[in-house]
Amino acid sequence: MKPWEANIRRVVPYVPGEQPKGSGIVKLNTNENPYPPAPGVRRTLKELSIEDLRKYPDPTAGALTGCLADYYQVRPDQVFVGVGSDDVLAMAFLAFFNSGKPIIFPDISYSFYKVWAELFGIPYETAPLDEEFLIRPEDYYRENGGVIFPNPNAPTGLLMSLEQVEDVISHNQDVIVIVDEAYIDFGGRSALELLERYENLLIVQTFSKARSMAGMRIGFAIGGRELIKLLQDVKYSFNSYTMNLPSLVLGTEAVRDEKYFRDTINRIVDTRERTKRRLQGLGFSFPDSMSNFIFAAHEKASASELFEALKKEGIYVRYFRQPRLENYLRITIGTDEEMEKLFAFLESYLGNMA
Ligand code: PMP
Repeated sequence: MKPWEANIRRVVPYVPGEQPKGSGIVKLNTNENPYPPAPGVRRTLKELSIEDLRKYPDPTAGALTGCLADYYQVRPDQVFVGVGSDDVLAMAFLAFFNSGKPIIFPDISYSFYKVWAELFGIPYETAPLDEEFLIRPEDYYRENGGVIFPNPNAPTGLLMSLEQVEDVISHNQDVIVIVDEAYIDFGGRSALELLERYENLLIVQTFSKARSMAGMRIGFAIGGRELIKLLQDVKYSFNSYTMNLPSLVLGTEAVRDEKYFRDTINRIVDTRERTKRRLQGLGFSFPDSMSNFIFAAHEKASASELFEALKKEGIYVRYFRQPRLENYLRITIGTDEEMEKLFAFLESYLGNMA
């Protein structure tokens, strides 16, 4: 070992889904939205001047936080924005999970939680999902240093009711509870309405899914004033200008177009429900997803072989080589045409197997 190696912070990084290049690819592997951002985003992008890039952006991200505050009917000092919800979540881990007691999150969940806990030296414990992949609120009653879970959960897509979410929060009022609502717009009821009652609640959402702006990297947190101030203190201790100017301007445009937002979500939800029926007919089973993806296992075909066969065909889905997940494929909901390509391939592949 070289002497300097003793000083190194070694981490096992999160592995994002592939971003394959080339035309004709059906990309159903990273839960992106198959539809473009709102028309106002396109218009405003064209109007951006090169001169706008010369100066630093507004470090307070005031226009975007103000616009989100109006939309979600909270005060601007209750909103924090970051470079995707990954950035917001990482800062929240750093700010709020600092007690020495283990934080708790589900054993099957967004795998970045474990990576941030390791990176920041936060002790953690996982709570196993039940046999139907559901989060059990009573697992979160024990003493801990903080709680985080996604709702709907990933990669299962399963939604907890607002009553269950409140159950977890009310049993954890001495610590911060983060509800990661990356997929909430596809059919869930947000915990935002609990904010008035719980000052220890932080809700994190993203522009990457329902707002079709994964490439722009915008995420945000809504919580009580005190929590938001603590998040800002961490941000300003790290990088004053996390949000670049185009994302501040274009993010604001996306929030303004409520009709486009609702229409896009409705299209994806319709395709999701149709996809459930088609997959069932092909011999797949899956938890009843309320997100923009379906976590499906086939009665006969191995998921890892299916994954490879689909990839050869230019159809990318996500496969997790992990205990309890190795029989499943996580399939993002694409356009109807993309899903038809998936069904056509599955029909012929599975038909040849019989
Ligand atoms: N939370 C969950 C549960 C996710 O699946 C994702 C997407 N990978 C994120 C947060 C982060 O998304 P983003 O950084 O694009 O907002």
